[in-house]
Amino acid sequence: MKKGIHPNYGPARVICACGATFETGSTKKELRVEVCSKCHPFFTGQRQSVVERRGRAERFRKKYGL
Ligand SMILES: [Zn+2]
Repeated sequence: MKKGIHPNYGPARVICACGATFETGSTKKELRVEVCSKCHPFFTGQRQSVVERRGRAERFRKKYGL
């Protein structure tokens, strides 16, 4: 990677609304988020819940003939 392409890219501190902080890489030095991997169920059970939701939607469509 050549120097100068990402001049502002560096370590950033992410601050979540739940109080958790963690380091990531960003062009900003500080990022504020409303949810993070510690407090959002989407991250904790990601694959499972996506599959579950899809299954429910399909059952719903079959039930109502959509
Ligand atoms: Zn959080």
